[in-house]
Amino acid sequence: MESIVHALLIIFSFGAFFIIAMWVENKVLIRQGKERYDLPETLANIVSSVLYKSADALYIIVFVGAMAAWVQAHGLQLNIEYHWYTYVLIFIVQDFCFYLFHVVAHKMRFAWVSHKIHHSSKHFNFGVALRQSLLAPIPLFSIGFIIWAPFAFLGLDIATVAFIYELNLFYQFWIHTRTVERLPKWFEAVFNTPSHHRVLGTFVDERDAGEILYGVKSRPVYSHNVFVMVFEELFDLLKTIWRNKDIRYLWHHPDWSPK
Ligand SMILES: [Zn+2]
Repeated sequence: MESIVHALLIIFSFGAFFIIAMWVENKVLIRQGKERYDLPETLANIVSSVLYKSADALYIIVFVGAMAAWVQAHGLQLNIEYHWYTYVLIFIVQDFCFYLFHVVAHKMRFAWVSHKIHHSSKHFNFGVALRQSLLAPIPLFSIGFIIWAPFAFLGLDIATVAFIYELNLFYQFWIHTRTVERLPKWFEAVFNTPSHHRVLGTFVDERDAGEILYGVKSRPVYSHNVFVMVFEELFDLLKTIWRNKDIRYLWHHPDWSPK
C-alpha cells in the first residue's frame, strides 16, 4: 500500500511539474511573439502520455524485471562498483543504445506505428515531448531489449539502469521547445539541446537548416482525437499489408513501396 502511495505521489508530482512547465512555456512563447499552445492538441498530448506511461510501466514491471534477471543469471556477472562516474558511463552508453532504438523507430514501419505520433504534431513544445503512444509495447517488446539487456548481461543492477533510463527520458523533455535559442558553445557541442532537437535527420546546425516545419510529410495526421493519433498508422499499415498481400511492409522504411 505504501509503495502504491509513493508511486502515485511521484506520478502526480511529475504531472504537476509538466503542466506548470507547459504553462510557463506558453507565457514565454506569447512574450516572444511565437506560436502559442494549441489547447485541444495539448489536452490530447497529455491523455496520450498517460496511456503511454501506463503501457510503459506495465512493460517494465511485468517483462523487464523478469527478463533482466534471466539475462543477468546467464551473463558475465561482473562485480561492478558504483561510483559517480559509473552512473555517468551508464547514462552515456544507454543514451547511445536509446539512439539506436530511436533510429529503428524511424526506419522500420512496425516500430514507426508507435513513434509517428511523437512527430505528427505541427508544433514543437513541451506538450509534444509528452505526445507518446499507447502502442509503445510493440517496439519495446521487440527491440527494446537494446536499452536494458547489455547492462543486465554485464551484471549491472537493473533498477539502477531503469532509473537512469527514466532520467534520460526526463532530460529529453526540456529539449522540446522553441523558447530556448542557442546555448553556450561548449554545451551545444556536448549535449542534445533544443536547437539540435528542432532539426531532425543527420546532424544539421539549426542556423543552416532554413525554415523548420514540424510534422510528418507522409500520411500527415491533423486529428486531436487520441484514438486516431495512436492507431491511424497501425490501421494503415495493416490495410496496406492486406491490400498488397505483402508482409515486407512491416520491416521496411515507412515510405517504402515495392513498385
Ligand atoms: Zn523520433
